[in-house]
Amino acid sequence: MKNGELAIEILENNGYEAYFVGGCVRDMLMGIVPHDFDITTSALPEETVAAFDGFRVILTGLKHGTVTVLIENEPIEITTFRSDGEYSDHRRPESVSFSRKLEDDLSRRDFTVNAMAYSKRTGLIDLYGGKEDINKRLIRAVGEPEKRFTEDALRILRALRFASEKEFFIEPETAKAILKCLPLIEFVSAERIFSELKRLIMGKGAERVMMDYPEVICRVVPALADCVGFDQHNPHHIYDVYRHTVRALGACPFDIDVRLAALLHDVGKPSTFTLSDGVGHFYGHTDASLSLAKETLDLLKCDNRTADTVLTLIKYHDPVIEPTEKAVKRLMNKIGSENLDKLLSLKAADNLAQSPDCAARLVTYDGIRRIMGEIESKKECFSLKSLEVNGDDLIAIGVPKGKEIGALLERLLGAVMDGEAPNDRQHLIALAMKFRKG
Ligand code: ATP
Ligand code: MG
Repeated sequence: MKNGELAIEILENNGYEAYFVGGCVRDMLMGIVPHDFDITTSALPEETVAAFDGFRVILTGLKHGTVTVLIENEPIEITTFRSDGEYSDHRRPESVSFSRKLEDDLSRRDFTVNAMAYSKRTGLIDLYGGKEDINKRLIRAVGEPEKRFTEDALRILRALRFASEKEFFIEPETAKAILKCLPLIEFVSAERIFSELKRLIMGKGAERVMMDYPEVICRVVPALADCVGFDQHNPHHIYDVYRHTVRALGACPFDIDVRLAALLHDVGKPSTFTLSDGVGHFYGHTDASLSLAKETLDLLKCDNRTADTVLTLIKYHDPVIEPTEKAVKRLMNKIGSENLDKLLSLKAADNLAQSPDCAARLVTYDGIRRIMGEIESKKECFSLKSLEVNGDDLIAIGVPKGKEIGALLERLLGAVMDGEAPNDRQHLIALAMKFRKG
C-alpha cells in the first residue's frame, strides 16, 4: 500500500493522474488485505518509465501499457488508461488504445465491484455503484450485461468465481445474460476455464454457486450433465447425483486435489445405474467415473501431477477401509500417506453428503488417521524405501537381476507390513532364501 501510494505520488508530481484500481480497491473496501496493488495512470508507458528514473523498471507488457516498478523490492504494476477496441473472437479485443481519460479505463472493466479507482488525492472514484454492490454483495456487469459477456465469454466464469470466492450473489440481469451467452464459452481456452473453475470450487460459496448455476458448471464439465436431477432411488442416497456431488464438494477441506476428486467422483453413476426391487445400484460406477474423470481432466488440460492424484482419490473413494494396522499400511504403501490423508477427507465429505446415517462412518476415519499417525511415529515400514533389504542384498545371495528381484522385495514388504516378519536385514535375507526355495 505504502509503496503503491509512493508510485501514485511520483506520477502525480510528474503531472499525470494515477490511481489504485480494480481488485485491490474492491478488497480494501471489503476489509480484505489485497494480494497485489494495480495502478492505472494517464501517463503513457514511456512517460511512466521516465517518471521512475532511478528505480528498477521492468517492461512487463509494454504493448498492453504495463510497466512494473520495483519499490523496496515490491513489484508495482502500472498500466496506462486503456480503452478496448472491437471484440471479434468473444475473448480478446482486436486492439487496445491508450487513453488520457480514467472513465475509458473503468468502463472496460468487467464488474462494478472491480471498476473502482482510488487515490489519496481524489478519494474513491466509483462511476458504476461498485461500493453499493459490495454492500449488497452483488456481482453486476458494468454496462449492458449481454454485450459484456458477448465481448469476452471468460467473464461468465469470472462472475461465478467471484460470487464463490467473495460469497456474493449475481445480480438478476447479469445472471440472465450469463445463461444467454453460455454457448460462447467454447471460445475460451481450456487453460483459462480450468483456472477459473479451480478458483470457483475453492471458494467459500462454491456449494451455493454450483447449485444456482448447474448449466454453467455442466458446460465446462460436461461429464456432470447427466448427474443433474438423477434420482438414486436409494435410502442411503437421498440427493440426486449432482446435488450429492455439490454437497460433498462443499464438505471438503480447501484442498484442490480433494475438491476436484469430489467434483468428479460420481460422474460414472448415471451410466451404471440399475434398479432392483425398487432400489438403485451403481455397480462398477468407480471405473466409469475414472474414465470420465480422466477425459474431463484431459479436456481441461489439467497438469499430470494433479490429474494423477485426483484419479487415485476417485479410484479408492468407494471401498471401505478397515481400521486395522494391516489394511492402513497396505493403503499407505499403495497410494502414499499424503494421498491417504486426502482420501480420508474425500470419504468423509462423501458420507456427509449422503443420508444422515452415513455420517456415523466418520469416526472410522478418525480411527484410521490415528493408526496412520502411529505407523508414522513408530517409523514402521510400509514402502520398499524403508525396507531393510534392497535389490543389491538379493543379488548378493544369488538372485538374478530382473523381475524376480522386484517380486521378492514386494513379498518381503508384504510380510513385514502384515507383521509376519520383522523389518530386519538378516531376517529378511533368510526369508528371501526360504521364499526362493519355495
Ligand atoms: P484477483 O486478483 O483477486 O483475482 P482481481 O479483480 O484483481 O481479483 P484480476 O484478474 O487480477 O482480478 O484482474 C484485475 C482487474 O482487471 C479486475 O479487477 C478487472 O477490473 C479487470 N479485468 C480482469 N479481467 C477482465 C476481463 N476479462 N474483462 C474485463 N475486465 C477484466
Ligand atoms: Mg489481481
